[in-house]
Parts: sequence; structure tokens; C-alpha cells
Amino acid sequence: MNDKTRELLKTLPKIDEVLLLLENSCVLEGVSRDIVVGKCRQVVEEMRKAILDAEKSGGKGFGPSSADEAAQEVCKRLLALYNYSLRRVVNATGIILHTNLGRAPLCADALQRIVDISEGYSNLEFNLDEGKRGTRYDHVRELLCCISGAEEAIIVNNNAAAVLLVLNTLSENKESIVSRGELIEIGGAFRIPEVMEKSGAILREVGTTNRTHLSDYEDAVCPDTGLILKVHTSNFKVLGFTDEIGLGELVELGKRIKVPVMNDLGSGCFVSLDAYGFEREPTVQEVIKAGTDVVTFSGDKLLGGPQAGIILGKKTILEKIRKNPLNRALRIDKLTLAALEATMMYYLDLDRAVRDIPVLRSLTEPVAEVEKRAHNLVALLEQLSLKDLTFSITGDMSMAGGGSLPTQEIPTFVVAVHSHSISPSKLERKLRKLQVPIIARIYEDTILFDLRTIAEEEFVFVTDGLKQIAGEV
Ligand SMILES: *Cc1c(COP(=O)(O)O)cnc(C)c1O
Repeated sequence: MNDKTRELLKTLPKIDEVLLLLENSCVLEGVSRDIVVGKCRQVVEEMRKAILDAEKSGGKGFGPSSADEAAQEVCKRLLALYNYSLRRVVNATGIILHTNLGRAPLCADALQRIVDISEGYSNLEFNLDEGKRGTRYDHVRELLCCISGAEEAIIVNNNAAAVLLVLNTLSENKESIVSRGELIEIGGAFRIPEVMEKSGAILREVGTTNRTHLSDYEDAVCPDTGLILKVHTSNFKVLGFTDEIGLGELVELGKRIKVPVMNDLGSGCFVSLDAYGFEREPTVQEVIKAGTDVVTFSGDKLLGGPQAGIILGKKTILEKIRKNPLNRALRIDKLTLAALEATMMYYLDLDRAVRDIPVLRSLTEPVAEVEKRAHNLVALLEQLSLKDLTFSITGDMSMAGGGSLPTQEIPTFVVAVHSHSISPSKLERKLRKLQVPIIARIYEDTILFDLRTIAEEEFVFVTDGLKQIAGEV
């Protein structure tokens, strides 16, 4: 340690000094003393570290530290604790299932049910008919089974958990046969080979990236085979000279060799989206009908519900999965269950599901409606006559996101926001810092609001936000 550093360390404020400065500040009201002391320690400790780091990196000009400075920083951090960190935002990106923005917004009944069920006690694990212990899955099992045609249903925390649980139950220390074309990585560090390893399943890759034949699967079968796994490639597509084995053929093979067949559907959709101009994708009902032993998918992708992992399939197999101790560790909580039950109820009438589940509504909304909304928004904004900001409307493309329908662009309309005094990147930052942040799309240096993911009810956030920004510049 050199002399300068030693001198600087001597200037570090004492915790008591900082506390004394804070004594009369109103931020202390309603915060326990232990928390204040903890924050003071943290700030002074960071000052000490900064001095030491400055010496190490030969940093020059590092000044002495003052108690005032520390007190101000502590104030800032205490106030920040009272600001919700998890907040509502306006998704103006046009990516309907945006994982970073919380994926699926919930339908009206799901919201209401979360409040109703969590306000008081519930029969989460209590059978009201028999007056004794019940199971939490009972509340959605019947709905999921009758809508999908499956014999049995289990729900866990998310689809990654569902995949882990199924692999561990059916293939621990045994081989799972998977096509090389399906060894995918989706966002957030979910990689099929790595999840497999953690589950204890032994990966047996077959075929090539672009082509896998039935004989590849057949040749890999051995006494150690525990599972045949088919994975939806979700966020990518191999085009050109490709071949994959249909689920039907795999199910037949599984029956022949008496090995269960699992299909990780990723998104898992109950509605045929081809009727709305999308490429054909097998629905959950079709995958079950094909005789698949276990099917897994997310609750908060195309299903449009809360985060959950849904496992559907044959009774005998799901019984084993249910008994796996890992299931207890991955179990779904009551708020999610309440929201999922309400969402699934909408699927009793598929037309209603498309109309009233926000994700499906956004995906299938006719582009003319989106255009109308873009004009309505611009009309509202122009009424405000915000100096500095002008708006224009153009046609563009939205995306499904969430690893769903990766190559399919969805026609939309966007409002471009032009500022005459600040740069697009500065404007983007200001939008992000609003009380209700607006997460915009930037394309070729222009800020765009995609109306496919902005509901009429959210216009107030956009108008209030832009009013504030226009007032600041
Ligand atoms: C999204 C996805 C998962 C993970 O689902 P989460 O609900 O995000 O845990 C697993 N497999 C596939 C194929 C997926 O697309």
C-alpha cells in the first residue's frame, strides 16, 4: 500500500458520522435502524474498495471521501428500496411473447382469480367432498385432460422443470435417443444436452443436423434405452435438404420396443393457428392423439397463461413422474394454479380462447384493426401538440417470440416517433426511464411503437410518458 492510499483510507467516514448526518433526514422514517446501518456499512466499504482498486490500477486523481457524500449515497439507496423494481411496462417491441418482458399477459379471469384465491385460504390441497387431504393438481387436471384428450396431467413450475422431471423419472442412467437436429439451445441457458445431463439421462444422439431417419433411431435402440425424445426446435428452423421423423413413426417404434416416447413441445398450442395464416404446427390435442406417452410445454408461451410447465400423457407413466421426489421440489404454487385454471377454462370454447386470451388475440388480430389503433394513438398524441415530437405511421412486421413460430412475420403497423432535439438513442433511454417505461423497437435509427403489442387501455401510459418527455427537452 502506498502513502497516498494510506492517506486516502484515513479520510473514509466513520459509520457513526454518516448516521449522524442522516439523523434528521426524512428517508429514515419507516426504515429500521439495522437496515440504515447496513446501507452505511455497504457504502463506506465500497468507498474503501474504490481507493484500493485505484491504487492497483494506478488510478490517479482519486479524491478523499466525505461523510456527506456517503450520506447522500445512503439516502439514494434507501429511497430506491421503496421503489418497486418489478414494474409494469408497455411492450412496444411487437414481440408478443417477449421473455424479458414477462411473456404472456394474463386474461381477465386469471387476474381476478389470483386476487380471490390469495386473499384468504383456499382448498389448495383439501378435498372438499371428502373432507380430507387432496392434491393441488386436481384443480386443473380435469380441464387439461378434457381439452387435450390426455389421460393424466401434472403441472410444475416451468417447462424446463417439466423436461428435467420427465427425463429424470424415465431415463435416469438410461439412454434417451434424440435427433441431432433437435439438440437445441433456447434463451436463458436452457440447452437440451445440459438439462439431460443434470437429469441423469444419457444422451444418445442420432442422425445429422439436417436429416434424421427412422433407421437412425432403430439402430440406436439397446437394452439401456429409456426414452425416445422429440424436441420442438422452437426458435430456429433448418431449411433446404431436411428430413425428420414424424411423431407417429416414433410412437410406433416406441410401442414396438416398449420404450416411452416424449415430445417436448416448447410452446404447446391448443388452437390451429393455420386458420389465421400461420404455418401448420401440430396442436397439443393432435400430439396426444398420435399416442405420445408424455408431452411437455410451457404455460406462458402460446397457451397464454402463467409461467408453468405442463406435463400431459399416459396414466401409468405420469403416475411414476408424480411420485418422483423431484416433483415436490418443482411444484407449482397456488397463484399460478389459480391463473392457469382460469386460463384453461377459456379453452373450453376455442373461439373464446382466441378472442379473450391476450397472446392469442395479439397473434390473430387482423392487421386492419392494428392499423386503426395506430391512427387512434397518433390522433391522441397530435391533440397534445407536443413540441419537439412528431409521429408517422408505417406498415411493418411483428414477431411471435418466445421461441414460437420463429420464421413467421406477422404484418403490423408501427408509429415512428421523431424528436427534433434529441437522438433516437437518448429518446429510447428516456422512454425506458418513465414511471411506466415504454420499451420501444429501434430500427435504422428510428424509434418505433408496434401497435400489435399495445392495447388501447395502455394508450394513457404512452400519452402521459410522451407528455413528460416533451416537457423535459
Ligand atoms: C421454451 C422451451 C422450454 C423451456 O420452457 P420454460 O417454460 O421457459 O421453462 C423447453 N423446451 C422447449 C422446446 C422450449 O421451446
